[in-house]
Amino acid sequence: MSSLLENIDAESIILAPGESVVFASPSVETFNVIKDSRLQNESLLQLVRAVRRSAKAQEATMELPRGPLGDGTHDLLVRVIPIGDDGLICILIFDDSEMHRLDSIRRDFVANISHELKTPIGALSILSEAVLGAADDPEAIANFANKMQVEAKRLSDLVQEIINLSRLQDADPLKNAQDVNLTDVVKEAIDQSRLSAEKRHIEIVFSDQVSALIKGDARQIEMAISNLIENAINYSPENTRVGVAVKHNEGLVEVSVTDQGIGIPEKDLERIFERFYRVDPARSRATGGTGLGLSIVKHVATNHGGDVLVWSVEGAGSTFTIRFPDSTHARVAGEK
Ligand code: ADP
Repeated sequence: MSSLLENIDAESIILAPGESVVFASPSVETFNVIKDSRLQNESLLQLVRAVRRSAKAQEATMELPRGPLGDGTHDLLVRVIPIGDDGLICILIFDDSEMHRLDSIRRDFVANISHELKTPIGALSILSEAVLGAADDPEAIANFANKMQVEAKRLSDLVQEIINLSRLQDADPLKNAQDVNLTDVVKEAIDQSRLSAEKRHIEIVFSDQVSALIKGDARQIEMAISNLIENAINYSPENTRVGVAVKHNEGLVEVSVTDQGIGIPEKDLERIFERFYRVDPARSRATGGTGLGLSIVKHVATNHGGDVLVWSVEGAGSTFTIRFPDSTHARVAGEK
């Protein structure tokens, strides 16, 4: 019986009459429902009693606290089944927490997108009314029209980033992966940001130009590096420097982007990779930010079997480092 239960994708408990536990799979412990070899959780006990009375299997969903603190719960589906005539009962516990967590991320994303889209659309609608009301004032009309252009650009940037992000979620860059020359990709990304850097008198310095190959999708990697460089420019004062470097480090290739900018408060560091999370929403909007840039960077890195790290001190600057598995040497070996 226990080897059967070990092969089912659920946690299991077998109870003898009197609700003493004769078997429990190892992870049942995480739910804290057994004490001194007896079932101790009231909701589970109620379900077991109902099954004993009816002699029929029953199912229920249950939320059990994750621990003594906070409001985190295990979201469980519990099936209680009578076995044989000896009063044995089998409890199967399916943990749906991960599914619920993904569901709630999806719901949040839809709610956030709706909010983000409504802001520029609302602004456009108000501005167009203002244009209608200012029929005799060409100067005011020009002013409103300029503002409309800004909002239309914001809307189009946002839609583009949402498309980028959803493409990334569908595509697997490691299937049909190309050899990507990281130095070339970094140079392209720097070129894309030249204009915005010059406008702010920011110098982009590309040091440590080692040759480095990784497996993946060049377009995605360029988008990620470009997002980091754009952020470095946007969140730095004028007349500062942005440094970009490529390095080999213990089987990894690292691309780092360092700025002398405003930095990020420590409490925000772990949240900045979330979609639409911004430390200062007003500053992000003023620089044309969508709040999606870093979540795209993180996606690209993890899809390539890598990750992204951040180091930052408020007022001093930040360094973002994307780490990829290094395939430089594999390629050299293959060529021999
Ligand atoms: P945004 O479009 O707002 O720049 P991102 O996802 O790229 O969105 O970044 C999220 C937030 O992280 C930004 O709003 C900003 O507050 C912070 N941030 C990102 N990069 C930097 C940086 N180089 N220096 C300071 N803050 C940064």
